[in-house]
Amino acid sequence: MSSNAQAPVSHFIRTIIDSDLESGKHSAIVTRFPPEPNGYLHVGHAKSICLNFGLALDYKGKCNLRFDDTNPEKESDEYAQSIQDDVRWLGFQWDGDVRWASDYFQQLYDFAVELIKQGKAYVDELTPEQMRQYRGTLTQAGENSPYRERSVEENLDLFTRMKNGEFADGSKVLRAKIDMASPNINMRDPAIYRIRRAHHIRTGNQWCIYPMYDYTHCISDALEGITHSICTLEFEDHRPLYDWVLDNITIPCHPQQIEFSRLELHYTITSKRKLLQLVNEKHVSGWDDPRMPTISGMRRRGYTPEGIREFAKRIGVSKSENIVDMAVMEGAIREDLEARAPRVMAIINPLKVTLTNFAGAQAREADFHPNHPEFGKRFVPISRELFIEADDFAEVPPSGWKRLTLGGEVRLRHSYVMRCDEAVRDAAGKVSELRCSIDHDTLGKNPEGRKVKGVIHFLSREHALPAEIRLYDRLFTVPEPDADKEKNFLEFINPESLTVVHGWVEAVVRDAAPESHYQFERLGYFCTDRREHQPGSKLVFNRTVTLRDSWTKEHT
Ligand code: ATP
Ligand code: MG
Repeated sequence: MSSNAQAPVSHFIRTIIDSDLESGKHSAIVTRFPPEPNGYLHVGHAKSICLNFGLALDYKGKCNLRFDDTNPEKESDEYAQSIQDDVRWLGFQWDGDVRWASDYFQQLYDFAVELIKQGKAYVDELTPEQMRQYRGTLTQAGENSPYRERSVEENLDLFTRMKNGEFADGSKVLRAKIDMASPNINMRDPAIYRIRRAHHIRTGNQWCIYPMYDYTHCISDALEGITHSICTLEFEDHRPLYDWVLDNITIPCHPQQIEFSRLELHYTITSKRKLLQLVNEKHVSGWDDPRMPTISGMRRRGYTPEGIREFAKRIGVSKSENIVDMAVMEGAIREDLEARAPRVMAIINPLKVTLTNFAGAQAREADFHPNHPEFGKRFVPISRELFIEADDFAEVPPSGWKRLTLGGEVRLRHSYVMRCDEAVRDAAGKVSELRCSIDHDTLGKNPEGRKVKGVIHFLSREHALPAEIRLYDRLFTVPEPDADKEKNFLEFINPESLTVVHGWVEAVVRDAAPESHYQFERLGYFCTDRREHQPGSKLVFNRTVTLRDSWTKEHT
């Protein structure tokens, strides 16, 4: 990690907080992360989590986890559970108990009654179609509903009866009475309650009316004493409504809504609806498919919480467009894994090597990490038959080739210098085996009188263990799969986003627990699969990320 890993990077939200603390507007901050439990969290949410929880940690304040559970049809306990797991896994802990907007349903109802009593809300019964017509357009003012001037008594009576279940779903709504001519459409008498007979994950069938998001969110924030209510830019136009609601009810707290730009990551999507579609239509194996940009997918692929937090720091917080290249994420993950992953050897595409002068060759002890002796050592065995990576051999080497070729020499990583004497072909003429010899005088020392530039990894065939190795690539073939409105994003799914190979690994990883990270030398970072890897029996590795391209330069 970079040397300033602990120093917070400043941004406009920190500037606001600094001045609020300095002026005495607040003595401590309270933020919140407010997901709707209608899907699994993705990398965009990770940004928001790191921001909200990160600020609370830096400023020694508090951050709440609050479920915005106002759409009962789409919400589930599975989602709510996964969200809590993901936040904790990222390394954060919310203040006190998990909170739910539904905890405030009674208070929200009481505040609606208060608005009605002040003549600031009314029950409307325009059809949805009429409602659209009356709303007007961006260039044209809306018109008042014929129900707008109902008396307070009538509104109170109708709202009570809405709550009591006397009216059909969708037949009436409660609207805030603001301004049908406002240039901001959100202020044209927005609906604040609707009738919906749906079973709610927490309140069951207790309510048949549900408060709308904009109305619920600001009041929930205020009830929790949130100081800075941080959300994404699409809510900027909703801020006047956020403020209007809090200004028109009796509540002692008025949080400041602050918007920042949402993260969009190239070669993936951050729309819950589309992620759900990928899952439902089985384009991926589930929400935690390692190709998914979900937190659980990234986790299963082998991304680390530290790496994701570092990524969030690097992309920064601002109001300008935040489209980030995958390389930024991969760079942060690599850097984190570089320091934590022990290094072993694995072979993805084996080519058999027979050592013709094997007698007397010895295993060599090797560190798991060149800079971390505390990771320990293991013996790297050698035997008469080896596996090397098929593409480390070329009969007709391109210029500058440093790996194996007929008559050429390479260093076997942690072992001897080896010369290729003969290529054996199968019936089809393809090279099926190499016959090689080692220089017995090169274990741990340079060969006499010549330089050997290339280093390749290898495994001793009799010691190696078979492993399923899953090579993941980007899920989409284009940087912005959902940018083209004419085209379905599914058209851009990368058919080569997953390649499963049956490879070989060093025996020393046999008992690795699920979610163990390794660098397979020269191949990349890999992680034992959370679900399917079984220590000691079925070894399953997911490729987290490839190594940076300069690997060969550094190691030869
Ligand atoms: P929905 O359409 O279901 O509302 P959502 O992505 O907004 O989808 P929420 O559960 O409402 O999901 O989001 C919780 C929080 O995460 C919100 O504060 C939201 O602003 C933030 N968030 C969501 N997507 C991103 C993103 N791409 N970048 C940064 N923050 C995000
Ligand atoms: Mg949302």
